[in-house]
Amino acid sequence: MGVASRLKGVIDNLRAAATVRPVMVLQSDDWGRVGAPDPMAIERLREKGHPVGESAWDFYGLEDAADLHALADVLRGVTDEEGRHSCMTANFVMANPDIRRMVAEDFREFRAVAINEGFPAPWVQPPLIEEYRRLATAGVFYPGLHGYTHFSPEGMLRGWHDSGKFGNRMRALIAEDVPYLASLTPEINFALLDRSGQSERFADRATQAQWVKLGIDAFRAAFDRTPVTTCAPGYRCNDVTYEVWKEHGIRLVQTAGGRAIHRHHGLLVVERNVRFEPHLDGASAVAAALRRMAEVVECGFPAVVVTHSINYVRRHRVGVDQSLRALAEFLEGALARFPGLRFAHDGDILHAYETNDEDWLRPPTAAQVRHRGVLRPSVQ
Ligand SMILES: [Zn+2]
Repeated sequence: MGVASRLKGVIDNLRAAATVRPVMVLQSDDWGRVGAPDPMAIERLREKGHPVGESAWDFYGLEDAADLHALADVLRGVTDEEGRHSCMTANFVMANPDIRRMVAEDFREFRAVAINEGFPAPWVQPPLIEEYRRLATAGVFYPGLHGYTHFSPEGMLRGWHDSGKFGNRMRALIAEDVPYLASLTPEINFALLDRSGQSERFADRATQAQWVKLGIDAFRAAFDRTPVTTCAPGYRCNDVTYEVWKEHGIRLVQTAGGRAIHRHHGLLVVERNVRFEPHLDGASAVAAALRRMAEVVECGFPAVVVTHSINYVRRHRVGVDQSLRALAEFLEGALARFPGLRFAHDGDILHAYETNDEDWLRPPTAAQVRHRGVLRPSVQ
């Protein structure tokens, strides 16, 4: 990026609209995404000498109906001044790999089960699609698109046939019915990327277009509408991705950062500026998120909170009850600390910014502009 366009970016950021009242948006990724069917898989991999089990993410399972009900109770239990309860923009991974079928076919082509059909063997979890739909209808979840898969399908096929170390790691995971682990197969962690060592190479246009289309078709089958908001796995997307998203009706892109809401390739870009991961960060998560939220509100920006599904999934982890209590405390703390706070989802943000809604947006004050000059990007 040239100096002139960087400078324009800085000025646009200082001038961008401020919210009339504080706004809080919760954005949550990885819903519908399977991890390890058996938590002992991690132990067995470790016994074989694979360096796994350090990261909480290695123990990712899959939500069930009880997780969804417990989360919905918390979100519904807190309402803003207008009587609106909180709502999560929940980004879904639309399909999971049918590993056993691909093994039987020697990984000749990629096979997957879309979440509206259930989950692939050996998962015994019944389909959750009716639960997801109920939460969407109740206004507790506002579904967004995380992608067709979280990982790279081409990378998985390549890994199975790879004769080197990458192949050994990939096949060890597949033997445990685990699609990928960030700690063991970083090469395929993100759908649109081929990673090796420090280098990251984006998939070509045709591959990206196919992956986006499959995700959108599966989303329509699941939720009976086209998704308008999306977040790329690992935030990894390039200009090609934006163009393909736009062609398919996406209007808002969620990413990480700390800048004002702005446009890129005609799409609204919403940067997540507050981290709330109580399961990963422990007891300090609520106080830290409220402190950070105060900095963001001082800038006149919506507080865009990132909180992944792993915080609220019980299957292989203890401590989810604390996460839920922390979420309730965070929401109540935000209401107490920021008078007039509005709960919103990505659809509300899209409407407010696309119509320049005076009830939501106004020019920033001098103090807000000053705060923007010193706001740090968020740590994701
Ligand atoms: Zn994700």
